[in-house]
Amino acid sequence: MTSKQVKPTAGAVRTTAGAVRPVSGVRITGGLLHDWRRRNSTATIPHTIEQLRAAGNVANLSRLLEPDPAPYRGRYPFLDTDLYKTLEGLAYDLGDGRAAEPVREFYEEVVGLLERVQAPDGYLNSFFQDPAAARKPWEDLAWGHELYNLGHLIQAAVAAHRRMGDDRLLRVAVRFADLVVSRFGEAGVCGHPEVEMALVELFRETGERGYLTQAARFVDRRGTGALEHRIFPGDYFQDHVPFRELPSVTGHAVRMGYLAAGAADVLLETGDPSLAGALERLWDDMVAAKLYITGGLGSRHSDEAIGDRYELPSERAYSETCAAIAVMQWAWRMFLATGGAKYVDVFERVLHNAYAVGLSADGTAFFYDNPLQRRPDHEQRSGAEPGGEPLRRAWFGCPCCPPNIVRWTAQLAGYVAAERDGAVLVAAYTAARVETSELDLAMETGYPWDGDVRLTVGRAPREAYELVLRHPGWARDVTVTVNGEPQDATARDGWITLRRAWAAGDEVRLRLPMPVRAHGSHPYLDATRGAVALARGPLVYCVEQQDSPVPVDDLAVGVADIVNANIERRDGAVVLRVAAGAAPPPSAELYPELPLEETSPRVKVTATFIPYFLWGNRGPQAMRIWVRTPATNGKKAT
Ligand SMILES: [Zn+2]
Repeated sequence: MTSKQVKPTAGAVRTTAGAVRPVSGVRITGGLLHDWRRRNSTATIPHTIEQLRAAGNVANLSRLLEPDPAPYRGRYPFLDTDLYKTLEGLAYDLGDGRAAEPVREFYEEVVGLLERVQAPDGYLNSFFQDPAAARKPWEDLAWGHELYNLGHLIQAAVAAHRRMGDDRLLRVAVRFADLVVSRFGEAGVCGHPEVEMALVELFRETGERGYLTQAARFVDRRGTGALEHRIFPGDYFQDHVPFRELPSVTGHAVRMGYLAAGAADVLLETGDPSLAGALERLWDDMVAAKLYITGGLGSRHSDEAIGDRYELPSERAYSETCAAIAVMQWAWRMFLATGGAKYVDVFERVLHNAYAVGLSADGTAFFYDNPLQRRPDHEQRSGAEPGGEPLRRAWFGCPCCPPNIVRWTAQLAGYVAAERDGAVLVAAYTAARVETSELDLAMETGYPWDGDVRLTVGRAPREAYELVLRHPGWARDVTVTVNGEPQDATARDGWITLRRAWAAGDEVRLRLPMPVRAHGSHPYLDATRGAVALARGPLVYCVEQQDSPVPVDDLAVGVADIVNANIERRDGAVVLRVAAGAAPPPSAELYPELPLEETSPRVKVTATFIPYFLWGNRGPQAMRIWVRTPATNGKKAT
């Protein structure tokens, strides 16, 4: 392989015009995120490679080198992206020297195939390059996903270049991108956003301004109704209203999140105030009325759509894993653009809940949609298949989520810290080494299981320098000491700023108390009205049937029960033992006449709540995040 040595960077969006810049030199050294990264390397990546081979994603490319190609395998024209997303993840593992030999062989094989299959004009797509394909390149912009494919190719190529110093994929990506810039200079837009983020990244990597210009064109071009499809309406594609005029996040959730993240990338490089205004307005509206408590986005299975304001059903939550990644991409870029801690709060909530639940504890099975409730008699979609997989599945016909997890988990170190002149900002708490051009920090913590964080300064500048610590939105009574001396821990805009001339060996202790919290929901959110959810730190909790002595649907938990819960360790995770009430069996009537007064349940039981992301690892059973409160037993006491 081509192997010039380059300084590894985080690859997590490098920017020129934002309020803060990513820190490239972060290494996660321990804790939950480290476990996830290791599981990604040892379990999810080998599994994904096996599934990609079995499903035909590799063969779809290699067949094109034959004089009489075998038919394309798979139902969708965008299956090359699953290879690209996997390559992007592999670039991090190969760059860090942690990939096993079969992983390197897979990388080499696929990169070699892409180089050979690419058309002389730069076009590359194993579905449309088939001479027997029913459609020709660029005939179907609404559903063809060709620019979406290019986007993931570019992101893999940039990761390989930054992390490994391998420029082969970058050459392939640049040839295709140049074709697109010349072909789409005047008109045309892809049905699935993604290429916008990627083109901005390609601009950052190559310095070619034409890619940034093209990304901005693709954002500006939406909203004309040009994307016609026989099933999906314009709002599915965010093509019914110009981006800056969208009243709310809408349509297909992953498309919406990717488009917003791409627009935020354009904002990061141009500072366009009209984009900033639209992005902030859309973000605030989403957080106020369209995000699940897990950070999940997308309420409707129909069209995989976001849904109305406050339309957030638990058992029918769609909350696709890819939409969780989309929200995190958008959140991080908004943080870079503005320095706002509120975006990192959402990033953290999504990461630990809506995202993490998408993968099984062993790293080889996936949810596509991530419901917040499973009923005891749940009718499983795959139940018709003999031995059908009742919970997470090994793979999908549309396998967008698994390789998205591969690449996202591989790059989590890029989302730990940021910097601006004279300051480093710690956005995420995890055991890590943080290196900027001016400062080295060693961070030790058991987060998210406990909120004690110790930061030890290594190298430091001689003059005064700011160490800026995120004050999570959920935290109260936070304290900070430097070398044992209490500091002002008042948060301003979500940040605690420590300014001084640091010396090697200085120790900062941040204590984020983590009491168990009870959360209600907005009164317009009918699906969970009157119910309560448990949370601790960034984690949302749920109860599975095997941890409750009564049906989880009859478990009634008061706020006092929650704040007095016992915090215990089980298999490395913090679980919550809650002394709760069992509501009397409900009336058999679907709509009983209400009594004058409702009473509290009297039977006391103890139930154990586990982190939501760990549910579904002990066989199919009922599960709830939102549980009844004593006042909602719905039956008059006898
Ligand atoms: Zn997906």
